[in-house]
Amino acid sequence: MSLRIIKKGIKHLSISDKKELIDYIKSSYSVFDEYSINVKACPECHSDYIVKNGTRKGIQKYICKDCKKNFNYKTNTVLSKVQKLNKWNEFVDDFTSLNIPSLKAMSKKLCISEQTAFNWRQKLLSAIAPKTNITFTEEAIEFDETWLRLSRKGRRNMGIEDPAVYRAWRKKQVGDSPYNVKVFFSSGRKSKKLDVHQSHTGRTSRKDMENYFIKDKFKDISVFSDAHVTYKSFFKANNIEHQTFIGKNHISFLNKEVHNQTANSLIRGFKYFVNEHMRGVSTKYLEHYIKWYQFIHESKLQMHKKDELKFNVTDEICDTIAKDKFGIELYRQSELSFIRFLKNNGRTNHGDCKHHYYANKMAA
Ligand SMILES: [Zn+2]
Repeated sequence: MSLRIIKKGIKHLSISDKKELIDYIKSSYSVFDEYSINVKACPECHSDYIVKNGTRKGIQKYICKDCKKNFNYKTNTVLSKVQKLNKWNEFVDDFTSLNIPSLKAMSKKLCISEQTAFNWRQKLLSAIAPKTNITFTEEAIEFDETWLRLSRKGRRNMGIEDPAVYRAWRKKQVGDSPYNVKVFFSSGRKSKKLDVHQSHTGRTSRKDMENYFIKDKFKDISVFSDAHVTYKSFFKANNIEHQTFIGKNHISFLNKEVHNQTANSLIRGFKYFVNEHMRGVSTKYLEHYIKWYQFIHESKLQMHKKDELKFNVTDEICDTIAKDKFGIELYRQSELSFIRFLKNNGRTNHGDCKHHYYANKMAA
């Protein structure tokens, strides 16, 4: 039947039938469908010697002539185990700004469980994360750090069920406390790029600076920051031009160019997002939200660069998810990375989490 005839028939439908039809059409395809017929290489061995091998549930299957693996466009991406991909049409739309809805709201809107909403959210963020690999070349950087409470939100057997113990623990979590996570912010004066990095817990040391300011990431830069002793000695030792101001003044009175107000406003935005909008996030997932904050920042830059109407964040997210090959590993590794992060910083109390992939890894 041609589309013309169908269109003609639709005109005669009642309003309620039209509504039903809209819902039916919405659920009969997914925004990722167009990727299913555009697979160019094998996800296992990257060979391009692949042929079509029938369809399953409307999705094109392929076989690799080199390694004999069967696959489709979802293989080795975060979409691989996702059922109801048609619901991602609406799901993705909620991620075009920092204002993401609560799990409860997502679950209600899409008729999925809160656990599924949570898993999908983490999968989406894991797919976005590898894209935000920022480098700075030949420019001035505004550098600053901030702290967030070390959070084990959503975990059990923490030994802090006693409210008094919990309150005492919260009190310890200020400034350079070892119960905080330090996050580095770098903002390029010229490129306007933003890099955010979850670094360590407690006081910033020379080692933390060395781990962050690697040569592949920062080439021929100069730095504006407050006059933190560690910063000063690190930049001096590494021959990086460094101009400082007194922290509480926020700007140098001798040279008004020397400040980090852009970095600072980005920090305020990030802290508001994590602490107020999300009401705190578990440190386990902090890295995902950090990278996503960067992604939204980058998307805004792109919008300004191109025509605002031509740049569509939803398309950008879908495209990133469909083409990404690293997110699924990040997602599976999140529990291990979290435990590793705590361990590297001298913490052993991480509580329990029934993490599916983690349990498999431990058993193996
Ligand atoms: Zn292959």
